[in-house]
Amino acid sequence: FAPWSDPHAVPLIRVENVTKRFGEAIAVDHLSLDIFEGEFFCLLGPSGCGKTTLMRMIAGFEEPSEGRIALAGKSLAGVPPYRRPVNMMFQSYALFPHMSVEKNIAFGLKQDGLPKGEIAARVGEMLRLVQLEKLARRYPAQLSGGQRQRVALARALAKRPKVLLLDEPLGALDKKLREETQFELMDIQHELGMTFIVVTHDQEEAMTMADRIAVMDHGRIVQVATPGEIYEQPKTRFIAEFVGDVNILEGHVLGQEQGLWRVRSSAAAEPLTIDDPDEVLHQDQAVAIAVRPEKMAIQRDRPEAGSQNVLGGEVWDIGYLGDWTVYRVKLDSGAIIRVTRANRSRYVENPIDWDERVYVTFAPDAAVILAE
Ligand code: ATP
Repeated sequence: FAPWSDPHAVPLIRVENVTKRFGEAIAVDHLSLDIFEGEFFCLLGPSGCGKTTLMRMIAGFEEPSEGRIALAGKSLAGVPPYRRPVNMMFQSYALFPHMSVEKNIAFGLKQDGLPKGEIAARVGEMLRLVQLEKLARRYPAQLSGGQRQRVALARALAKRPKVLLLDEPLGALDKKLREETQFELMDIQHELGMTFIVVTHDQEEAMTMADRIAVMDHGRIVQVATPGEIYEQPKTRFIAEFVGDVNILEGHVLGQEQGLWRVRSSAAAEPLTIDDPDEVLHQDQAVAIAVRPEKMAIQRDRPEAGSQNVLGGEVWDIGYLGDWTVYRVKLDSGAIIRVTRANRSRYVENPIDWDERVYVTFAPDAAVILAE
């Protein structure tokens, strides 16, 4: 499933050079984006970057100040929300407190004047989908946060929109429930084959669920790619730092040797060797080298002379997370970096301790170069 890599695929939603202004403020700034049928698409970005505004324009609650949004090739300009095959599930689930679960789910279908039998069939189908059959007669106040979230989802899905927009759908849930519900949402989306566009500021959530992620900043899209590409090949320093943990080593380019970049950095005594052949760089250019903490190794013994990418330092502190241990290492340059190590067995003989002299290493292909 990768319609975005097919140049002939027709997007379900096309956002073309859209700008949205509120007075002087620019919420969305010349933004273009294609979303394909059946995609689980996440809009990810810090607070205020314009995610919700973009969603509200797709839903029809706001009109673009400039540019155009089309669905299956037809412009949506002037089409009111209820005439769009798009449904939006809001952050506050806005369930009707005086209606039972099944009445909540049936509400929109009744308004649309569907026959009674059809409504009952769809409500039954939705209750099964979100696993709330046993709670059909309860009222919202008698449900947990996670159950309410599922009712809201069922209600939004019951109308069978082509596109479901979800604004921070899991924001109200605690961490554990949120993680479980992420997988449920993916399963439901998969089963229905519907297009989901989810707004979140939680990068782990986006990584877990999305087919593709659009990372937004200041009303613009900075990168659209699969979670793997965003994490392994971030385009900018902002993305590298926003998605996952990262160490940034600053330096300048010495040149290229056998297809590998040589970079002088204060973080290491010897020039660094980086395998990032797609970058076009010139000598003396200032660059940032991004290395994820789990792609670095930490050892007590000095690596052999001639080893690549050796950073000497002292263990500043150690955090034990159960599945991982995080070492913060103060490099000889004074910079502090993070190295994580998976705890693969329960006992570690002679573990590295606070204040020890250590060497951090990483392979040339563990790093990416970001032009400054
Ligand atoms: P959050 O994650 O905090 O919800 P967001 O990325 O969804 O943020 P938006 O709600 O789209 O961001 O807001 C983008 C910018 O536009 C913000 O600076 C916000 O203050 C501004 N904005 C949004 N709606 C309006 C409005 N109705 N009137 C004026 N300014 C607005």
